[in-house]
Amino acid sequence: MNPDGQPGHIDQIKQTNIGVVYRLIDQFGPVSRIELSKKAQLAPASITKIVRELLQANLVQETEFQDPGSRGRPAIGLMLDTEAWHYLSARISLGFITLGLRDLSSKLVVEDVLPLPAEAELPLLDRILSEIDQFFIRYQNKLERLTAIAITLPGMINARAGIVHRMPFYSDVNEMPLGSTLGAHTGLPVFVQHDIGAWTMAEALYGASRGCKNVIQVVIDHNVGAGVITGGRVLHAGSSSVVEIGHTQVDPYGKRCYCGNHGCLETVASINNILDLVRQRLSTATGSRLQGIPLTVEALCDAANQGDQLARDVIVSVGHSVGRILAIMVNLFNPEKVLIGSPLNSAKEILHPAIMSCIQQQSLPSYSENIKLEPTEFYNKGTMPGAALVKDALYNGSLLITLLQG
Ligand SMILES: [Zn+2]
Repeated sequence: MNPDGQPGHIDQIKQTNIGVVYRLIDQFGPVSRIELSKKAQLAPASITKIVRELLQANLVQETEFQDPGSRGRPAIGLMLDTEAWHYLSARISLGFITLGLRDLSSKLVVEDVLPLPAEAELPLLDRILSEIDQFFIRYQNKLERLTAIAITLPGMINARAGIVHRMPFYSDVNEMPLGSTLGAHTGLPVFVQHDIGAWTMAEALYGASRGCKNVIQVVIDHNVGAGVITGGRVLHAGSSSVVEIGHTQVDPYGKRCYCGNHGCLETVASINNILDLVRQRLSTATGSRLQGIPLTVEALCDAANQGDQLARDVIVSVGHSVGRILAIMVNLFNPEKVLIGSPLNSAKEILHPAIMSCIQQQSLPSYSENIKLEPTEFYNKGTMPGAALVKDALYNGSLLITLLQG
């Protein structure tokens, strides 16, 4: 490392190469060293050196396999050794913390969902540390070597510095030094990222946008935001990879938002605000299926699917609010695919056409005509977003370098 903390040029090349080799073994293993050298476009001597280091660290293992290119005796292939290493993937949502222990193949070993109320005597940071400590104590008999902690949450985040400026729901959060405190407390590398940004990475690595080069992923949930993949890379992956459409003003006279402004998209299109609007309308409307039943997002979608006018109108107007902003984003990023991550996907036959009509009417026809609009593959899949952060850090080599240094 240089004094400024950035890796030097040679270190950067080493890191990139080791990440490339690891990713190729993950994707093609069991794979021979020769094949690896061709795929990575690295000299056989470099491959031998990198593989030796990965073998010594138990990150890669050798196995006999029948190389499809050669008939006869089995060849020695390389594949990942993922079970000897664990990491903690944590996710904070409104009122809950999910803690998942995973191995390096992302496979879940154990997962707990625990309450994390808005109000408590201790500050949120102390409560997070305590929950993590207790989790490790609870499952110490299952723990293999720990590699990292990944934590995803909603709010205003500087991912590189690991600082959470503000959060919805947890109003005591103000410039919370989550990454550095957790790192000092556990001695592990810590990755902090916005939930939506990390979810965008998860869809790109394992989900609905796998293999796509240009994607906009919009989330309509407790919070509203987007992640963008452009040229095959997640936009702003190093800082806060969420694109803050949720804090774009759509109603200048609207409600106050936790970000400090008024009438943000999130104050119109987040699930809580949608349900508030339904409640208001129900107080004057009669004849809706939603009268007299507990109001949830599932009930809203069911009613809309059964033709309830009030429910349909509310979902269509959410689609239009989001669609207007998406139309601008389509002109900026020219995506091949738009993904919607939302519990409102239960009524996607109503929501998606409302969004698509805005895109088609309000963005450049040559950009909008071939766009596919689809639901995300993962919705509320526990700590999958954090798993994507760790996979990304393995593939770009940064976490591998830390592990090799022991
Ligand atoms: Zn806002």
